[in-house]
Amino acid sequence: MTGEGRRAELAAALSDVNDRIGRACAAAGRPADEVTLVAVTKTYPASDVVLLTGLGVTDVGENKDQDAGPKAELARAEGATPRWHFIGQLQRNKARSVVRYADVVESADSVRLVEALARAAAGRSEPLDVLVQVSIDGDPARGGAAGDDLWRVSDSVAAADTLRLGGVMAVAPMDWDPDRAFATLRELSERLVITHPGASVISAGMSGDLEAAIRHGATHVRIGTSLLGMRNPLR
Ligand SMILES: *Cc1c(COP(=O)(O)O)cnc(C)c1O
Repeated sequence: MTGEGRRAELAAALSDVNDRIGRACAAAGRPADEVTLVAVTKTYPASDVVLLTGLGVTDVGENKDQDAGPKAELARAEGATPRWHFIGQLQRNKARSVVRYADVVESADSVRLVEALARAAAGRSEPLDVLVQVSIDGDPARGGAAGDDLWRVSDSVAAADTLRLGGVMAVAPMDWDPDRAFATLRELSERLVITHPGASVISAGMSGDLEAAIRHGATHVRIGTSLLGMRNPLR
């Protein structure tokens, strides 16, 4: 496809997604500017990041360090400097690499990972924004802190000079009603904000469930498929 064709395709998809966000906010009685769209560009090329930022997208999400680093560099060379959100499971030995391009790490789920991020972020001019990923059903398989670990991980982020605790992130478990999942996340967020008043971000909602997430207070939705198209199932 030509660059122009792809640009038109992305523009139409972006307009549809923004309409969905707008309708969901209206239904929830929330102003639409309370919700930030994070375009999840994983498996798609840097050229799509350049097109999306040209269309007004401010935030992009990636889940693999080995793809995200080069993509951020290529996009920057084309003048595209969105806020980069790292949203995937992160090995401690990748912390040094991730802090070079990420503005936000959404997937902090252990004190040891937080310590590695805090050390790696020491050379940055700005603190690294960090969200604590919550495992809503307590199953650690897909990542996320459960039970009291959530508070331990949050406190460790807040205690690190080089990090800034932004709030929470979660993926709704496959076999849960999204309304129940996001209501649970919101309760956890409300508890977190009592001890960490600045940590009000709720990153929740993907292509299939953004309406439910916005109903339950999401401040960030992470949208891949509805914006960029189906991903290769092998990736
Ligand atoms: C891939 C991914 C998304 C986007 O999912 P879509 O269903 O394609 O919108 C959101 N969050 C995380 C953590 C992801 O890995």
